[in-house]
Amino acid sequence: MTTVIDGQKLALEIRSEVAERVGRLRSRTPKLVVVIVGDDAASRIYIRGKRRACERAGLVSEQIDLPAETAESELLSRIFALNRDPEVHGILVQLPLPPGLDPYAVARAIDPAKDVDCLHPENVGRLVQGNAHIKPCTAAGVIEILDRHDVPIEGSRAVVIGRSEIVGKPLALLLLHRHATVTVCHSRTRDLPEIARSAEILIAAVGRPRMVEGSWIKDGAAVIDVGQNRLEEGLVGDVDFDAAVARASLITPVPGGVGPLTIAMLLRNTIEAYEQIESAARSA
Ligand code: NDP
Repeated sequence: MTTVIDGQKLALEIRSEVAERVGRLRSRTPKLVVVIVGDDAASRIYIRGKRRACERAGLVSEQIDLPAETAESELLSRIFALNRDPEVHGILVQLPLPPGLDPYAVARAIDPAKDVDCLHPENVGRLVQGNAHIKPCTAAGVIEILDRHDVPIEGSRAVVIGRSEIVGKPLALLLLHRHATVTVCHSRTRDLPEIARSAEILIAAVGRPRMVEGSWIKDGAAVIDVGQNRLEEGLVGDVDFDAAVARASLITPVPGGVGPLTIAMLLRNTIEAYEQIESAARSA
């Protein structure tokens, strides 16, 4: 019997754990500030979801809207002001940025302690070393799905299709730190179906609708579909779900799989950042 993951249910569990942690706080309330530059429609949908989830978990959320023609110096000085503000514990600059704004310069500007998306080089370095206290939301959400369904990671053969900075690479690192044997595939990979077929844990983070065919899946594999492709028929993943479900032991649907986890992990990262910042302030 294949387990089809209910990402919404799992996300609600994590969000209520965050709400409990927030409820136990006696001092300030954790605050997340989301900065959005320009008018990207998909980004606005994501941000609405993120803010609603924050409020439901008892976190304060604020949105800063900047026009697409904002100069990089202006964006950086807004970030520096948020870094200095003791009421702010998490800063997220929604990607993608409009052309002309350097996402790496933006990532470097965010105080690493408030970098809830784990994009600052210091946090990326910690991730590589295996001692990150804040992990990239989507990658951490995938690990959470595997853990909460008792999918063994240690010693497993994991294949990650996609090597982006925000999903594929961090996920490969998290799996490696959990002692999986990890293969990372990308657009130049040869024999992709054959490599995919070797995976006990197969993760697709590509952005190509239904690219992963049923025949690419090893019998009994755990299949995690990170892809979110907006087609006329609606949101579809990178995996051909109907074909894959017959072979996988566990699979995430799109929508309703990984997506809700990403937001839940953002809330968790915000409370983690809050606790670290407050504890550093107490011991200063
Ligand atoms: P990117 O476009 O940054 O990266 C895509 C990766 O896929 C690249 O490494 C690229 O290879 C690889 N790729 C492209 N074509 C092929 C191919 N034919 N065969 C093998 N590999 C290929 O995307 P993201 O990582 O940002 O996002 C991936 C997907 O995940 C998207 O659908 C996105 O919407 C979704 N997503 C979902 C989230 C969620 O919460 N569920 C969060 C973030 C993203 P190369 O490096 O060689 O170009």
